[in-house]
Amino acid sequence: MTEYLLKVLVVGDGNVGKSSFVNRYVNGYFTKTYKMTVGVDFSTKLLPLTDTEKVRLQLWDIAGQERFISMTRIYYKGASGCIVMFDVSSNSSFLSCRQWKQDLDLKARLPSGEPVPCILLANKCDLSCRVVSAKSIDSFCKGNGFFAWMETSVKDNKNISESIRRLVEEMMSVQCARNPMEEAPLRLDAPPEDGSGAGCC
Ligand code: GDP
Ligand code: MG
Repeated sequence: MTEYLLKVLVVGDGNVGKSSFVNRYVNGYFTKTYKMTVGVDFSTKLLPLTDTEKVRLQLWDIAGQERFISMTRIYYKGASGCIVMFDVSSNSSFLSCRQWKQDLDLKARLPSGEPVPCILLANKCDLSCRVVSAKSIDSFCKGNGFFAWMETSVKDNKNISESIRRLVEEMMSVQCARNPMEEAPLRLDAPPEDGSGAGCC
């Protein structure tokens, strides 16, 4: 069994649902009073890909640092993919996505030099008071280098695992397409390279 390690960043303004999303995906439930963590943390989930391959996903959640729309390079280091999330009932959280994406592109690249694959998630689509239209999301997505966007509702469990699936497929194809030997995602069963160990910040 081959296991790949993929680091995925989850960014976006505060209160859009990032921690709820990670919690729902990893632990399988939604709570209205999700404890606010301070700092940066990651949760891990194993995702079977094929009979012989699986992915160990590391979902990196930020908390309490959203105000700055700028993360340290250490947070971005080694990222294979990114989720930029906003809340469809908050126009300002949608507008911030441009800066979140710019910050990512400035600070993170794949080993090939390509931008990190990024999906845009329009969360809280269960709410009736939505203010961001599908049309504006679509044109923003195309104009800002996202490979796709999806509506999600962490509350109703809509498109949570589907959006992760979509991102994983993209990450695997981007990284494997060019040079399968050198740019494949980190294989956990491969011998460690010199000096490489668990990342630490
Ligand atoms: P974060 O600051 O981006 O990590 O956001 P949280 O995960 O802490 O969520 C902020 C608030 O939005 C919490 O009260 C959640 O219960 C709520 N929330 C998250 N996702 C959804 C959703 O899909 N629908 C609705 N209605 N509320 C949500
Ligand atoms: Mg949070």
